[in-house]
Amino acid sequence: MDFAGVEKEIERVIVSEQELQAKVRELAARIDKDYQGKDLLLIGVLKGAVMAMADLSRAMNRHVDMDWMAVSSYGSGTKSSGVVRILKDLDRDITGRNVLIVEDIVDSGLTLSWLKANLESRGAASVEILSILRKPAAAKVMVDVKYVGFEIPPDFVVGYGLDFDEKYRNLPFIAVLAKHMYS
Ligand code: IMP
Ligand code: MG
Repeated sequence: MDFAGVEKEIERVIVSEQELQAKVRELAARIDKDYQGKDLLLIGVLKGAVMAMADLSRAMNRHVDMDWMAVSSYGSGTKSSGVVRILKDLDRDITGRNVLIVEDIVDSGLTLSWLKANLESRGAASVEILSILRKPAAAKVMVDVKYVGFEIPPDFVVGYGLDFDEKYRNLPFIAVLAKHMYS
């Protein structure tokens, strides 16, 4: 790999590229089965879910529609604010649709519980959540995530869509960011 010096910026890799790809294929197979014969709209949360959406949708063996939302709950720091703002809304009406929200990570759960309620209020037939990562220790709000990739410790992580100040999203694995990068 040619990410010059990146090993000094990360503490350790916690989910490898192979583990991520295997898990995404496993989740895609479960979703294919669960939504067999039903319509399915994947809603990706920008920008963190881009990698998950690209890999997950291609691992599925069915037609899906995709739409995207951008919400902000973080600044450039490493703590959740709980304040959610829509930066980019859906392109289409979701009345009567089976929605699956695709997220990178559930930390406090504040963003997702807000988003789920928001999409339900628009008349979706169902709203479920997939998140590649979950930090169980940090759950402030109970949010029901139907499809979880990996349970991880409450450290700040980067890679596979997750950023620190817009950097590291294109790492193909998940790594704990070195403390000296933000303290
Ligand atoms: P929550 O509202 O605390 O669940 O935060 C959710 C959002 O915060 C995620 O969609 C991420 O964009 C961001 N986030 C939470 N934890 C991390 C992390 O460890 N690394 C990078 N972004 C994170
Ligand atoms: Mg996100």
